[in-house]
Amino acid sequence: MEQEGKRPTWAQISIPSLLHNYRVIRGHLSEDVRLMTVVKANAYGHGAVECARALESAGADWFGVALVEEGIALREGGIRRPIFCLGGFWRGQAGAIIEYNLTPAVYKIDAVEELNARAGEAGRTVDVHLKVDTGMGRLGVGVEDVPAFARLISVNGNVKLDGVLTHFADADSVETGYTNRQIELFHSAVNIVKSLGFDPRYEHMAGSAGVHAHRRGWGNLARAGAALYGLTRDVLTPAIEPWDLRPVMSLHTRIIYLKSVPPGTAIGYGRTFVTQRESRIATLPVGYADGLRRAHSNNGRVIVRGRRAPIVGRVSMDLTLVDVTDVDGVSVGDEAVLLGGQGSERISAEDLAVEEGTVSYEVVCGVSARVPRIYLRPRVY
Ligand SMILES: *Cc1c(COP(=O)(O)O)cnc(C)c1O
Repeated sequence: MEQEGKRPTWAQISIPSLLHNYRVIRGHLSEDVRLMTVVKANAYGHGAVECARALESAGADWFGVALVEEGIALREGGIRRPIFCLGGFWRGQAGAIIEYNLTPAVYKIDAVEELNARAGEAGRTVDVHLKVDTGMGRLGVGVEDVPAFARLISVNGNVKLDGVLTHFADADSVETGYTNRQIELFHSAVNIVKSLGFDPRYEHMAGSAGVHAHRRGWGNLARAGAALYGLTRDVLTPAIEPWDLRPVMSLHTRIIYLKSVPPGTAIGYGRTFVTQRESRIATLPVGYADGLRRAHSNNGRVIVRGRRAPIVGRVSMDLTLVDVTDVDGVSVGDEAVLLGGQGSERISAEDLAVEEGTVSYEVVCGVSARVPRIYLRPRVY
């Protein structure tokens, strides 16, 4: 699958699996709820434009990005559907919001004023969604400040309040009390906005975990990221039936060098691994600069010829060593799977996350730009 004439290290992105996951999430929602597919951070490492094109063809209603720059990249990649900037925009980006037809979250009045000024110059009206903090404590106007903020929006005549959103802090928890409280606060914020004469079309609260576990948290727009990429075990609550999701990314390389060494041979920086037996040690052209975290030093494995081969010694920037003594017939050029399945063995992003002391989100986002993404496509979509 790797490209001819290149280092044989690549991430494979399965578009059929992405679309399968999209349909699972879509199928979970009722007809009147729109779906925003979140493709921030290069679609969690999967490639934003490629994923968004496939999702747009499949009918995704909205796209969610963190940065204006990411929204621009989608427009330049041909995406036509609405794009929501989850984190708002930076000073100086109001012109780009208008030019690229992006919809920002707003929670600071200076941003609204800048947008209003640029929209006035362009002879346009710009939609915004008011971000309300109901308990995440990160971004958003507190519920008590919503009346004053909404009035400030209303004097900015080129800005139209077309949505209200919040974000759940604890939607994957077995304890649902905190999320229910956030939902109540959100409803009171929406009621305030409506009582002031606004008529926002969109009300949204939930990411993947909230969509999965809290029907009352759907509003009429659901924002799903992680589940779309097949991340489940550390994303969705264990309290209810999991979704049948498929991992979208797998990570591959090939053995480039193979040697037999006697017992007592030190392997890698710092001599942290010393062979206990006559061993076959394989060198893989992948390292922490590619996103194989150094935390996997003497703590992880790859799959070669359907067998697990432990990572030995320290993961270095560009190279990693594995013990393939127990892999029958191992040869230079054999594929090694770092993330994904081969034969009956599988390594999930959630497995790697446990070893790294993090979550699966960070594992897939951490696959660096120097790893080419190879897209597995359906024949038609
Ligand atoms: C990233 C993000 C999402 C998507 O969350 P997932 O857990 O990946 O589904 C939704 N809403 C906001 C505000 C976000 O920042």
